Amino acid sequence: MSSFIGLENRAPRDMMDTTSPPMKQVERREWWLWSLVVIINLLLTAGIASFALPLLRSETDNSLNIQQSLRALLGLVLLFDIYSLYQQFQIHRIRRQLMSRDDMFRVISENAADLIAVVDANGKRIYNSPSYERLLGYTAEELRTTSTLEQVHPDDRARVAHAAEQARKSGYSERIEYRILHKDESWRVLESTASAVRDASGKSNSLVIVNRDITDRKRAEERLQHDAFHDALTDLPNRALFLDRLGRAFSRAKRHPEYKFAVLFVDIDDFKKFNDSLGHAAGDDVLVQIAQRLTSSLRKDDTVWRQPQGGEGPPASQDNVARLGGDEFTILIEDIHDASDPIRVATRIQKVLAATPLSIEGQEVFASASVGIALSTSPHDSAAGLLRDADLAMYRAKALGKARCEVFDTAMHATAVTRLKLETELRKAIEHGELRVHYQPIVRLSDTKIVGFEALVRWERPHVGLVLPAEFIVVAEESGLILPMNRWLRLEACHKMRSWQAEFPSNPPLTLSLNVTAKEFAHPGLINDIVQALEQTGLEPSSLQLEIVETVAMRDAEKPENVLRQAKSLGVRLSIDDFGTGYSSLSRLRHFPADTLKIDRSFISRMDIDADNRAVVRTIVALAHNLGLTVVAEGTETLEEVNELLAIDCEYAQGYFFSRPVDEQTALHLLRTGLCTQMSSSRVAAAKPLSLSARNSF
Ligand code: C2E
Ligand code: MG
Ligand code: MG
Repeated sequence: MSSFIGLENRAPRDMMDTTSPPMKQVERREWWLWSLVVIINLLLTAGIASFALPLLRSETDNSLNIQQSLRALLGLVLLFDIYSLYQQFQIHRIRRQLMSRDDMFRVISENAADLIAVVDANGKRIYNSPSYERLLGYTAEELRTTSTLEQVHPDDRARVAHAAEQARKSGYSERIEYRILHKDESWRVLESTASAVRDASGKSNSLVIVNRDITDRKRAEERLQHDAFHDALTDLPNRALFLDRLGRAFSRAKRHPEYKFAVLFVDIDDFKKFNDSLGHAAGDDVLVQIAQRLTSSLRKDDTVWRQPQGGEGPPASQDNVARLGGDEFTILIEDIHDASDPIRVATRIQKVLAATPLSIEGQEVFASASVGIALSTSPHDSAAGLLRDADLAMYRAKALGKARCEVFDTAMHATAVTRLKLETELRKAIEHGELRVHYQPIVRLSDTKIVGFEALVRWERPHVGLVLPAEFIVVAEESGLILPMNRWLRLEACHKMRSWQAEFPSNPPLTLSLNVTAKEFAHPGLINDIVQALEQTGLEPSSLQLEIVETVAMRDAEKPENVLRQAKSLGVRLSIDDFGTGYSSLSRLRHFPADTLKIDRSFISRMDIDADNRAVVRTIVALAHNLGLTVVAEGTETLEEVNELLAIDCEYAQGYFFSRPVDEQTALHLLRTGLCTQMSSSRVAAAKPLSLSARNSF
């Protein structure tokens, strides 16, 4: 890895080149030299032999001695020649072995996928495998002439140098990862180890460095990491990442008390309508486009983003938008001065949404958003707590009419805490059987006979007493507890009504009115639940009257899977509750499968003294009759109201004048004594309210 050491380059093949043709030249020369030595030796031997031969032939004592010496010398010279030849063969064999190992190394390094480099003791590059060119795009010439530490990412250079140093000292470096610049200007990631090569004296004089290109693996890991922290649809950060960033903001605020930030909780108004009317794919498209608008509306030059103190750099504004799920987005706004900063951002978001319609599947649709704001100065010091505050503020913005923004305050927090407590207690109340059903009679005005009862839930709280639904029905609705609660109530009331019908037969039989809320309406199991309750208790569908408030009923009528029509087809009767409060167009009533209108008590009360109220009630009654609907006057409290109702032909009434909602024993007592039936229309004017006994029992 010459890049690893980052010094001067040489051509990658340099080292290999020394192992073949030059080596052969050296060998050839050696052979010449050795041959010369041997020839000279042989010539010398021959010379000695010719000089010594006459002496060898003489037979004097002296010559005998010289003969022996010469033979010995001759033998030694021959032995030396043989030994020299033998050594030359050995050296040749070892060199051949080394050459074949060099060849093997060359073949391995040239064909290896890894990048292999050798650097000398001075850090000079001795060799780069050809894969350098393949993987990093640099030719041998370019590698020779460029300094490769420059190609290493500036942030990684110190680590690379340290690893090389480590390898020189201890023999091996630890495995490191670093980025290197490809010729095409992209960054590649290499995984690298370095090993020292030591000389005979034990000194490390060069390093062999093996790099592996792990760019693809790294990208796959980064993709996985990205996916774990980003929303697949919009590619925005998800809840986990947002909470993490929020946590960091909190830590920073602890270190720098002057640093303040805010969370915006953005919820698209009536998002469901996009899904319902255009389909889910279009709904997704709406979310993607809104995500884009949110990010684009957070400009970096916004006055909100001033250079933060503490030198941690300006926040990457667009990264601070997250999608929590569904139609909920959050935005972290850093370095604010006061609440006006996030409010300005929220207002701009709303303006951006309102300015131009979204283009969804060729259609232009407008979307608005409700925004809740929580400031870091709120009582919470946890990311999740602050997010909850912003969520609460968003709910307040929705409740106050949508397409607006609200800033969280401590009163909101207190309400939320109380609500949460109530929800927990209500959950327990359902489990512990603390709920009761009370029944309020519905009376036929012509003969003041009880024709049915409306079942109304009560909560018998230990140490508190009887709690009215106004205090808990909204919590039950929002938490979803309304579903198990009303399932229980339906069974209980149907059962009771069945037994009353058996004991007090009439024609038509007594009816049971049950309230159905918006949440129940949206619940797909509602019709099934009703069928089950009827089957289990044996109550006829025609004896059941479902009360739906006007707004929910009208919304349902627009849906293709119209729940009301399904209920109607079962034979169940339908009643529009609190009629007159929902601003529904009277003409639409015609297309609505209702049997009864219950006029809201706000119109009934004071109708005896308020001419306007009287006119409204008269109009509603006339209209209902024209449409073939019967009318129940809710909240009838006085004799005068009763007489007025009789005068305008209203058939039924319900209210404290006849009876308050009562427990089942009192309801049974009312049925047994027929107290309500003692009144006849002719005697109404003289009659006293007959529900006194019931009132006393409350
Ligand atoms: P609603 O369905 O309109 O029920 C009639 C409400 O008017 C009852 O209040 C009843 O006590 C009250 N009321 C009846 N006559 C008079 C009167 O002469 N004067 C006055 N001032 N009030 C009268 P309640 O029981 O407190 O119920 C309030 C609302 O809570 C109900 O309005 C209904 O929407 C909801 N609710 C009650 N019980 C249930 C239930 O079991 N399930 C569901 N889903 N909703 C329920
Ligand atoms: Mg009702
Ligand atoms: Mg009502």
